[in-house]
Amino acid sequence: MDTARLAADVSARIRDIPDFPKPGILFKDITPMLADPPLFGRVLDWLAADWGPVDLVVGIESRGFIFGAGLVERLGAGLVLARKAGKLPWATVAVDYGLEYGAACLEMHTDSIRQGQRVLIVDDLLATGGTAAAAVDLVRRLGGEVVGFGFVIELAFLDGRSRLDVPVRSLLTVPD
Ligand code: AMP
Repeated sequence: MDTARLAADVSARIRDIPDFPKPGILFKDITPMLADPPLFGRVLDWLAADWGPVDLVVGIESRGFIFGAGLVERLGAGLVLARKAGKLPWATVAVDYGLEYGAACLEMHTDSIRQGQRVLIVDDLLATGGTAAAAVDLVRRLGGEVVGFGFVIELAFLDGRSRLDVPVRSLLTVPD
C-alpha cells in the first residue's frame, strides 16, 4: 500500500474550518473524505493493516464509530462503543479527561471486554491525547490488552502521542 499517496489523497479531502467550535481551533472536517467511497475504503484498509489478531475494535464517539464500523468487518472483530457520559444504557466504567477545547467523560459498558482480549482503538483525530488516553484506561480497567491506536489525522504540535504507551499509527500528520 502506498501510504504517502493515500495520505496526500486524504489531505485533499480534509476541510479546514477556522475557529470551530471555538475561536483558535482549526477544525479538521473529514466529511469530504467520507463522501468519497474509494478513498474511504482505502483509509479503512490502511487502518486495518498489520495489527495481528484483533478481537475487538473500540470506536470513540462519535467519528471513531464511523471508522470502527468499517474496521470490524475487515478484521473479523467485535465493535465496542466508547461514549460520552450518560449515553450508554447498561452498567458502565467511566474516566474523566481534558480536551483541546473543554473537559469530558468517556464510558464503556462493563461487559464489553473480556479479560485478555486484544483491542484496537480507533478515532478520527489525535489532538492532545486526552480522549485517547481515557480510552486506553477504560480498556485496561476491563482487562483488555490494547494492541494499538489508529488515527486518520494527528495534530503533531499537540504531542498527544506522548500520552499513549501503546503503538500509535496516524495516516496524516499535521503539519507535515
Ligand atoms: P484530544 O482528546 O485533545 O486528543 O481530542 C481528540 C478528540 O477531539 C477527537 O475525538 C477529535 O475528533 C476531536 N478533535 C480535537 N481537536 C480537533 C480538531 N482540531 N479538528 C477536529 N476534531 C478535533
